[in-house]
Amino acid sequence: MKIIDIKVTPLFIPLKEVSPFSANPKRRGYHVLVEVFTDEGITGYGEAIPFTHGAISAYIEQQLKPMLVGQNPMQIEKLWDIMYRVRFGHGIKGISIYALSAVEVALWDIIGKARDLPVYEMIGGLCRDKIKAYASLMEYRKPEEVADISLRWVEEGYTALKIHQGASNAIESVKAVRDAVGDDIEIMLDVNGAWNSQEAIKKARELEKYDLLWLEEPIWPVDDYDGLARLRDKTDILIAGGENECTHYGFRELITRRAVDIIQPDVIMAGGISACRKIFALAEVWNLQIATHSFFFGPGIPATTHLSLSNMRSEWVEINAVPLEAYFIQPALRPEKGYVTVPDKPGLGIEIDEDVVKKYSM
Ligand SMILES: [Mg+2]
Repeated sequence: MKIIDIKVTPLFIPLKEVSPFSANPKRRGYHVLVEVFTDEGITGYGEAIPFTHGAISAYIEQQLKPMLVGQNPMQIEKLWDIMYRVRFGHGIKGISIYALSAVEVALWDIIGKARDLPVYEMIGGLCRDKIKAYASLMEYRKPEEVADISLRWVEEGYTALKIHQGASNAIESVKAVRDAVGDDIEIMLDVNGAWNSQEAIKKARELEKYDLLWLEEPIWPVDDYDGLARLRDKTDILIAGGENECTHYGFRELITRRAVDIIQPDVIMAGGISACRKIFALAEVWNLQIATHSFFFGPGIPATTHLSLSNMRSEWVEINAVPLEAYFIQPALRPEKGYVTVPDKPGLGIEIDEDVVKKYSM
């Protein structure tokens, strides 16, 4: 089998919000579909993270596509290496690895379809039938809005909520949510690097009484691994991070410098399914928990779910709880009663809704 073409399609599909409205919804309306075509008629689907969607689309089309057309998509380790080696000059983190990740996920979809196996059957088999989805919240302006929306997601069946509130009201928001949802719901706080390392120690101590499941990316810069290790020594709250780290080489630093208790690789940012499996192996030998990162809606969601279903220590899948106006993958794999799973079908197990793609293409 040979790769004959790669197509990248940026989409804008808005979130379908009802009050309370989040602070910055537009950013989450961008999506990038990646399709890899073969000479045997099998097409693989991937998704690129849409930050600067024009740049990542151009990188795939101008840099990766000419190298991959004519190659055998079944040789995934070799193709990963070819894509990774051109990183020089493009950076060892960021867009070059995000682009690699998008294409790599599509290659797994092709291999699964060619072998008539779901991806999970090729990477260890099912460790469980379904996995707990946590509601990942948008950022809201006021703590009472965060509490309101949290109650709504609990009513939908979620038993775990991650709130994204920055420096201005993070602690007040955690208090408001804990007061609203009670003690039986798991709460995580993600501040996206809001604090310096000294502030983070003080804030973590203030947060201890709210029984957080984890505190995510507390320190700026988010790769201040020594600062994170210092924070871990000074608080009982579990520290999570890694969504901005790329490849197993990057996670080697995060892990060996003891920066986090819970690692959060993102399948479409960290280097695809192959790199995530290597990162999972590192987590296993260092005895760390895994909570994959997936704040998107396309083929990255089944890719994340296949990975988590086939790993013993990956206990959650992150789901942006706000629905989209329309879904370009079918099934959309939205949680039911707080759990997600994947179809028992070859590859990622999803199809693309061409009408949605046509309607929302940019
Ligand atoms: Mg995060």
